[in-house]
Amino acid sequence: MKRLVLLGGGHSHVEVLRRFGTEPLTGTELVLVSPYPDSPYSGMLPGWIAGHYTRDECHIDLMRLTRFANCRFARSACNGINPEARLVFCEDGTTLPYDVVSVDTGTRSPAFDTPGAPEHALPVKPVEHFISVWDEICKRAVRGQAPRRIAVAGGGAAGVEMLLAMQYRLRKLAPLAEFSFDLVSDTGSILATHNIKVRTIFTRVLEQRGVTLHLGRTVERVDRCRLRLRGGGSIEADTIVWATGASAPFRRVRTCASLRRRKPSISNPRSRASSASARPSFFRKASRSKQPRRWRQQTPSPSTRSPAGKS
Ligand SMILES: Cc1cc2nc3c(=O)[nH]c(=O)nc-3n(C[C@H](O)[C@H](O)[C@H](O)COP(=O)(O)OP(=O)(O)OC[C@H]3O[C@@H](n4cnc5c(N)ncnc54)[C@H](O)[C@@H]3O)c2cc1C
Repeated sequence: MKRLVLLGGGHSHVEVLRRFGTEPLTGTELVLVSPYPDSPYSGMLPGWIAGHYTRDECHIDLMRLTRFANCRFARSACNGINPEARLVFCEDGTTLPYDVVSVDTGTRSPAFDTPGAPEHALPVKPVEHFISVWDEICKRAVRGQAPRRIAVAGGGAAGVEMLLAMQYRLRKLAPLAEFSFDLVSDTGSILATHNIKVRTIFTRVLEQRGVTLHLGRTVERVDRCRLRLRGGGSIEADTIVWATGASAPFRRVRTCASLRRRKPSISNPRSRASSASARPSFFRKASRSKQPRRWRQQTPSPSTRSPAGKS
């Protein structure tokens, strides 16, 4: 029996698990290591921000999915790998021997590359963190304490979608409040990787909705409630959302031959279950009247960092 350990329950491993469920591979033992029992489906995130979906409707239930794939679920974050000894280390102290390990722990926000942004901006990734902060903003909006000036850094699909979704939601939650929205992008137009028709339509939509565009401008640093732009000028904002693409994660998983086993590997055969139905849905809750929109194809980027792309 070979053990395949999957690190991270994001989009890529969700599909891996689904396929193991539909086409089981004999002689393979699966283990998923994930700090969360569910996984946000980012394609539906703007719909959740706008209030069209509940949290459960746009989250994939990893517990159900692992049962379907006959996979053991280890709820923890991996914090180290010893590739020579073939061991995965988890934050809860457990150690997992493996034959093959697959690392899919996602991306980080490039916010860390701009001074002040890690302290004063809200990055879109990790999505789990964004979700909890946005939840809090919505609660404040209901109490009449919503941030009034919102700025988004990043003019790619994520930035544009998120801005429009946030605007829609805040206006619903606080119809009498006045909000201002700014979008900054170092590209000469929004949605720079999309075709001219898409760019024209969305530029018009943003203008109609009163969004101030700052195109061809780079955020040089972020202070509390202020974006400072290269070449002069600044934008004041109570909430600064960072959607400037994706970078490789750093120091999230250490790979080191000197890491030693700390605790016996977990072994809980009862957490493994036989395959469920042949065509299951793994969303925590089915969307009320709407089907989740289809996963839109994106042009693959040659680099992991794209200032105008999604994170
Ligand atoms: C607002 C928004 C909208 C988007 N819409 C689309 C779209 O419509 N179409 C499209 O193609 N793409 C879209 N994307 C991009 C898409 O989200 C990413 O391309 C995709 O999530 C990448 O998948 P992944 O499996 O590499 O990582 P992720 O899906 O990010 O998964 C990584 C997982 O690893 C887990 N993890 C992190 N650290 C550890 C650790 N140490 N140990 C264990 N687990 C860990 C995290 O909890 C997370 O669940 C969108 C992105 C955003 C932000």
